[in-house]
Amino acid sequence: MKDQNKIAIYPGTFDPITNGHLDIIERARNLFDMLIVAVTNNPYKVPLFTVDERMEMIKNSIKNLTNVIVENFDGLLMDYAQKKGAIAVVRGLRAISDFEYEFQMALVNRKLAKNIATVFLMPNEKYTYLNSTIVKEVAKFHGDISSFVPKEVELKLKEKFAN
Ligand code: ADP
Repeated sequence: MKDQNKIAIYPGTFDPITNGHLDIIERARNLFDMLIVAVTNNPYKVPLFTVDERMEMIKNSIKNLTNVIVENFDGLLMDYAQKKGAIAVVRGLRAISDFEYEFQMALVNRKLAKNIATVFLMPNEKYTYLNSTIVKEVAKFHGDISSFVPKEVELKLKEKFAN
């Protein structure tokens, strides 16, 4: 019988969410009953947006997607995933350059929680060059980011970098 509650976590900094992230969310939500987009404060990155701002932008971008919710977590991803009863963690793989770090993380995470799988999904190739950092760089110099991010994120970035 089908397990009705296959939960997956899609963790990340999402500073801010891009169309590449949304592509992964769309793929992942078709594979699981519920997808939790989990926003973390990455101690190695200084974010442009607060956690609340990042969550708000994600919420607005996914409001038509019934089985996707947004949460914030601190601490170890695997502790959080276990607490949520998740069976998988989803990550996006864009290029070989992502691979080494993701491979290492996935193996460490498997040591920490062997019952939770890491699932890698590839976005549409048109998003393989896209990341939040590059979007912020272009926005900072008032370049056109309309094809990189949802409308509301575009407006927020414009606000941040006004004048
Ligand atoms: P982190 O700081 O955890 O890497 P990010 O917000 O940068 O957080 O990314 C979260 C996840 O989304 C990562 O698995 C990353 O590889 C993936 N990702 C980011 N940008 C894209 C994109 N353009 N296409 C597919 N996956 C992406």
